[in-house]
Amino acid sequence: MYKITLIPGDGIGEEVTNAMTKVVEATGVDIVWEKLQAGQKAIEKYDKPLPDYVIDSIKKNKIAIKGPITTPVGKGFRSVNVELRKTLDLYANVRPVKSFEGIRSRYEDIDLTIIRENTEGLYSGIEHSIGDFAGESIKIITKKASDKIVDFACKYLKKNSYKRLTCVHKANIMKLSDGLFLREFYKVASENSIPKKDLSSSQDIYADDLIVDAAAMNLVLNPEKFDLMVMPNLYGDILSDLCAGLVGGLGIIASANIGDEYAVFEAVHGSALEIAGQNIANPTAIIQAAVMMLRYIGEDKAASLIEEALKEVFIEGKCLTSDLGGKAKTDEFAEELSRKIKAKR
Ligand code: NAD
Repeated sequence: MYKITLIPGDGIGEEVTNAMTKVVEATGVDIVWEKLQAGQKAIEKYDKPLPDYVIDSIKKNKIAIKGPITTPVGKGFRSVNVELRKTLDLYANVRPVKSFEGIRSRYEDIDLTIIRENTEGLYSGIEHSIGDFAGESIKIITKKASDKIVDFACKYLKKNSYKRLTCVHKANIMKLSDGLFLREFYKVASENSIPKKDLSSSQDIYADDLIVDAAAMNLVLNPEKFDLMVMPNLYGDILSDLCAGLVGGLGIIASANIGDEYAVFEAVHGSALEIAGQNIANPTAIIQAAVMMLRYIGEDKAASLIEEALKEVFIEGKCLTSDLGGKAKTDEFAEELSRKIKAKR
């Protein structure tokens, strides 16, 4: 029996996490969900967006899965997501982006992963106003955090049989912060026996780098040429949404926030307030987050059962949510998946 912290979040959070727990339960893995609130709902009750009991629960259970949490724009409390990642030192954000047969998108056969540094960069939360005239947000990139995330990426590359490790940066402009990230990238890659790309020799695995704007263009032109990408916080945030768009949209991409002690799994999308409460949100992203979570705890068979069922549902195309061109409701999609999973067990 596993005890896992479940944060439904707000907006479409409750609907998609309900669908996810139903699907995970269909696999037969024995999980007790410790359901807790964070964000606006927690403020209303406890006057704090990220109450201590949420952190305590994750520290105790070591694993959490969460729905999206709305962050006020330009004012209000700091992002609960950023706070969670910093407090629990969840330094690696892993976002696999893979094509699904049956989902209409501009590209086929995409299999790439973005690894985003999760604790610093422009998300350090150090900001101040200079009178009414200016705002200043400090970007911090340290050698320690850069080494750690690149080392994580190198190990991930080998474990997942990727060949190309690409560092994304803007070191031509931010020579000190991104410059340090890039320098550490090649150093740590070399320590992990991943050599810098060398056109004069044939290499099985190699490391290269791209400036973020060129990376964005290349991802749209030739996404199939990418394998594993590692980058500072902000670039990872933006490029992973771009990559979600390559394979069918935000409704299907998941992410894992991994630290040395704890892991928090979530959908990449936000709270989608305009469709909340209508039972039409696509729960695939949080279900894919659950697949990553099941693999993380060693329940590979259950993870594969869900993946196979998802594959079948998309290929059949009869039970798709509206973002994918179908008419199915969130709970109908979850029921169809659960039925298929139970039939396979
Ligand atoms: P969003 O992801 O909520 O929505 C972007 C678009 O995608 C909308 O059109 C929405 O309807 C659609 N969409 C998103 N998820 C979908 C799903 N599962 N099924 C069908 N359609 C879906 O992004 P946003 O509008 O920029 O952000 C809304 C709020 O969510 C903001 O407060 C933001 O800070 C927050 N947010 C939270 C997280 C998180 O908790 N990890 C991540 C991103 C954004």
